[in-house]
Amino acid sequence: MTNLVSKWNYPTTVRFGAGRIKELPEVLEAAGIKKPLFVTDPGLAKLPVVASTLKLLDDAKVPYGTFSDIKPNPVEANLKAGIAVFKAGGHDGVIAFGGGSALDLGKLIAFQAGQTRPVWDFEDIGDWWTRANSDAIAPIVAVPTTAGTGSEVGRAGVLTDEATHTKKIIFHPKLLPAIVIADPELTTGMPPFITVGTGMDALAHCLEAYCAPGYHPMADGIALEGMRLVLENLPKAYADGTDITARAHMMAAAAMGATAFQKGLGAIHSLSHPIGALYDTHHGMTNGVFMPYVLAFNRPAVEERIARLAAYLGIAGGFDGFAKAILNLREQLKVPHTLPELIKGLDMDAARKDFIAVSAVADPSTGGNPVELTKEAARAILDSAIEGR
Ligand code: NAD
Repeated sequence: MTNLVSKWNYPTTVRFGAGRIKELPEVLEAAGIKKPLFVTDPGLAKLPVVASTLKLLDDAKVPYGTFSDIKPNPVEANLKAGIAVFKAGGHDGVIAFGGGSALDLGKLIAFQAGQTRPVWDFEDIGDWWTRANSDAIAPIVAVPTTAGTGSEVGRAGVLTDEATHTKKIIFHPKLLPAIVIADPELTTGMPPFITVGTGMDALAHCLEAYCAPGYHPMADGIALEGMRLVLENLPKAYADGTDITARAHMMAAAAMGATAFQKGLGAIHSLSHPIGALYDTHHGMTNGVFMPYVLAFNRPAVEERIARLAAYLGIAGGFDGFAKAILNLREQLKVPHTLPELIKGLDMDAARKDFIAVSAVADPSTGGNPVELTKEAARAILDSAIEGR
């Protein structure tokens, strides 16, 4: 019989809707932040969306500092530089503004600035998070500008460990932002590649959460509806980036994916993480590449579940119908079908494939995969994604 015992967590306050970025000054007040550090990435820092947001702070006479020395798939050096700016500026909270990279790094600055132990001591392993001084964590206001990672409603931050070439998940309940402004107008400037990549991330979160074993019917329900929103709206947001209705539904789906994946993730993420750490690929797009290969691998455990999903989505043909719909969606959105299509000039030797397989098995996402992911299985999925079979 199913074990009907589990732990459920739900996100924070989300002020959702077009134009709500205007509420930033009052949101800071509500979060108790008087002198925020505005954290974003260098690409976004040059765009009007940042200038217009900073103007809101200027107009409200909020004293703030800025930090944008962040690479995609951020690393510890970015974190250390951000903490130095946070401390030097006497800041008392963070506005994390951007895609997952800026959101995660902003969250981690607020978290780590007051800690004495290295950040790696707070990896998402067992109860390591209890090592942190919870009282020293500064409040966070999160403002997503992509619609994929859902980091704005999550209690984790992803940081690449350059020493081991691995992506590590840093976890603490207080990494959950105090307040989120989810304003779809901020996402309309995303170029198509990022729209698709982040959308595939939201889909992967919902799909893996839905397939993860464990008793979490609320997460399952959220994941189901999240997938419907992605399948119906990602093609519209891709075709017309200014379609604010599609952008809004994608922003909701992203938050839903991250809410659902408290139930667990799976082998899509386990394999995507080492690829991202080694090749600096876009996380969500890498998930999109692995999706059909992992789905096929998991088939024996999820065939009936996926048939129910297909029925909910109005897709005929059960598991096969859903698998085909995923392939069609990827084709329509120009998601690379293989890793060599994603990473130009890819040439992986056996040692590197083994390293990726071993890293995938050790990844914290692996526990949520419905079929045991052995090193051999991870290697076989990797080969499929390289060869496209
Ligand atoms: P990203 O934050 O790396 O941004 C990708 C690019 O998009 C950047 O060049 C950025 O400048 C640009 N961009 C962002 N918003 C834009 C906008 N509105 N207009 C124009 N350009 C814009 O991409 P992402 O997919 O949002 O985040 C990926 C990161 O998030 C990875 O490091 C991944 O590991 C992490 N992640 C974290 C979680 C979590 O739970 N914390 C979950 C999934 C992924």
